[in-house]
Amino acid sequence: MERYDIAIIGSGPAGLASAINAKTRNRKVIVFGSSDLSKKLTLAPKIDNYLGFYGIKGAELRDKFKEHIDNMGIQIENVKVNNIYAMGEYFSIMTSGDTYEATKVILAMGMEHTKPLNGEDKFLGRGVGYCATCDAPLYKNKVVTIVGYNKEAESEANYLSELASKVYYVPMYRDDYELTQEVELVKDTPVEIVGQNKVEKLKLKLRELETDGVFVLKDSAPPEQLVPGLEVEDGHIKVNRKMETNIEGCYAAGDCTGRPYQYMKSVGEGQVAALNAVEKLYTK
Ligand SMILES: Cc1cc2nc3c(=O)[nH]c(=O)nc-3n(C[C@H](O)[C@H](O)[C@H](O)COP(=O)(O)OP(=O)(O)OC[C@H]3O[C@@H](n4cnc5c(N)ncnc54)[C@H](O)[C@@H]3O)c2cc1C
Repeated sequence: MERYDIAIIGSGPAGLASAINAKTRNRKVIVFGSSDLSKKLTLAPKIDNYLGFYGIKGAELRDKFKEHIDNMGIQIENVKVNNIYAMGEYFSIMTSGDTYEATKVILAMGMEHTKPLNGEDKFLGRGVGYCATCDAPLYKNKVVTIVGYNKEAESEANYLSELASKVYYVPMYRDDYELTQEVELVKDTPVEIVGQNKVEKLKLKLRELETDGVFVLKDSAPPEQLVPGLEVEDGHIKVNRKMETNIEGCYAAGDCTGRPYQYMKSVGEGQVAALNAVEKLYTK
């Protein structure tokens, strides 16, 4: 299998700053993320604190970032990373379709601001999960509920409906939902996940769903779920001044390392992470 020098998880300002700095030093880089780079960047109405770009719209800054990476021949792998395992000399990076290998990893997946559902933490691993396609075989002929925070969750629901006996889809956003006939759309608000030792029901405002599993699908999963063994403090990845995490060879940058949640802080950290990762590649 082709092994990358550096895998960057996230295509926001932090991930892209890492990518351009690693690429400048001729390192083989792969960036995982989304084709629109960062939803937060696209949504920002007006940015006054990004040096050199006073008053720029988020979408305009995103286009400038896109032009920059295009000019440097950096492409985004438009896939979600589900798990990263430290294998000693390298990292194994799992997506729903493929597995990748990289010597160093930079985590730049932003920060998820929505609160966990009641019961989500309690039943994690006992019926609650963050990757429907990864756990699909466990739910063969069972009832599954997906609480989807973005459009990508729809395809996970469609995929699961081929295996599960029943799939409910509870959208947490407004859109046209592209679901197969087998998936039942439930337009209601989740209140609590309940059960004895494992998930039995999802209580919503208007109804209750009997279900064996609940998948909570957001833009990014909690970092400690993504990388087993990663040290996290108050929901943020713990890093030192070199942006090193507690796992050798694994760095983090941007909103995922803590406040302030800002562009300049994110790109600065992305740069520091990449330069340190590159240095380690040269000296080892
Ligand atoms: C409306 C709004 C206005 C803002 N205005 C300003 C402002 O004026 N000035 C300012 O400095 N900051 C502003 N911010 C904050 C700024 O957007 C963030 O600080 C910045 O985007 C953080 O960059 P990041 O690279 O850390 O993460 P993000 O921009 O969140 O990018 C992370 C990327 O990683 C991807 N990702 C996550 N998990 C995975 C995974 N498992 N696999 C693959 N990809 C993954 C996400 O989909 C996303 O594309 C604003 C934010 C919002 C929402």
